[in-house]
Amino acid sequence: MITVDEHLSRIIGTVRRLPPIDLSLIDAQGCVLAQDVTSEVALPGFTNSAMDGYAVHAADLAAASETAPVTLPVVHDIAAGNTQALSLAPGQSMRIMTGAPMPHGADAVIQVEHTDGGMARVTCSVPVSVGENVRQAGADVAAGDLVMRDGTRLEARQIALLAAVGAGRVSVTPKPRVVVISTGDELIEPGTVPRFGQVVDSNGLMLTAAVRALDCIAFRVGCVRDDARTFLSVIESQLLRADAVVTTGGVSMGSYDTVKEVLSRVGTMRFDKVAMQPGMPQGFGVLGEDEVPVFTLPGNPASALVSFEVFVAPALRLMAGRPQHEVRLVTAVATDDWTAPAGKVQFARVTLSCNGSGHTASIAGLQGSHALRGLSEANALAVIPADVTSVRAGDQVRCHPLGPVVQTTSWQGS
Ligand code: AMP
Ligand code: MG
Repeated sequence: MITVDEHLSRIIGTVRRLPPIDLSLIDAQGCVLAQDVTSEVALPGFTNSAMDGYAVHAADLAAASETAPVTLPVVHDIAAGNTQALSLAPGQSMRIMTGAPMPHGADAVIQVEHTDGGMARVTCSVPVSVGENVRQAGADVAAGDLVMRDGTRLEARQIALLAAVGAGRVSVTPKPRVVVISTGDELIEPGTVPRFGQVVDSNGLMLTAAVRALDCIAFRVGCVRDDARTFLSVIESQLLRADAVVTTGGVSMGSYDTVKEVLSRVGTMRFDKVAMQPGMPQGFGVLGEDEVPVFTLPGNPASALVSFEVFVAPALRLMAGRPQHEVRLVTAVATDDWTAPAGKVQFARVTLSCNGSGHTASIAGLQGSHALRGLSEANALAVIPADVTSVRAGDQVRCHPLGPVVQTTSWQGS
């Protein structure tokens, strides 16, 4: 028996960040940048107005007030998109829209709300200070600035910045392509009602969804029979399109445990008992010329999901160039009593909730490794250390979130 950490270390020590590819900016969404990006341009690219109003010389309005407003001639109208080089002489104003270039010489914008909105002449009832309502060229980004580092995940906000500095294509770490293979003679395709002795391939869909939820690309291969030759030919052909392969079933001690039987003899595959519950039988290694990482997970659904979270997800994050600290354990107070096996890390399926004073964790349904309902109701795994054999209501437990934690939030604060 090996520990969870030993098995995970072997995996993390084997997988590598994928080689970079070039993608158009929008296709790179969810990928991690594989280059530093330096801006050739300044942002804003030109000094422009932050408000709809009038571009002025601030000195001209120094004495303006409600009781003694100042009137200036309006000599031009500047809309966003104007590309004329304009100059504003002292004692004049120009009507200007948000984002429009400031005329040369003007040093402030008076907001339209503080004027009479005039077209030929404008009457201003407040003073403005130099720079007021003006966005200076280069204040956000200076030409030559390093704006984004290798390793940054490209979400909507990062894509906006890259687009603004003129990037068209970027070098990124691609999303890992993951082949999901379910094995077992009892398995039938989802969408059919199982007859006696049949089991729907829920793992195949669950792991496909889990891969997608991690922003990786999943290829689901349906139910593969417990037959050595069939399984071997399926895995050989799937290696061609895979950055990683995840199988379920066929790795325990039974007579029809084909995955283990076939793969024990190939590549660097190793099959171990890992001191965890659920998910004890695990296999991992690399196969084929391209040394594709292959994870063979146990068939019971809760075991498969826990194994995915604990071993596969960290590996996929690493391959995608993403940081491991994307996942944080949350400390919660247990609301139930339960037992845990001696000498094994338990991953209990719990519902994690958050109230004003902190988090609580409650056991979610039946804890058998076959039980799907509790698994579906759970939003976290409580990680109970190997030396703990019982949890009592009130104990602190560390939880690995699986999804959003319900929380009462107000946009108004407190
Ligand atoms: P195994 O790991 O092949 O011994 O399977 C352990 C248990 O998990 C058995 O009860 C299987 O029927 C079940 N099982 C295996 N594969 C799947 C799957 N793809 N979907 C749902 N249940 C499965
Ligand atoms: Mg089986």
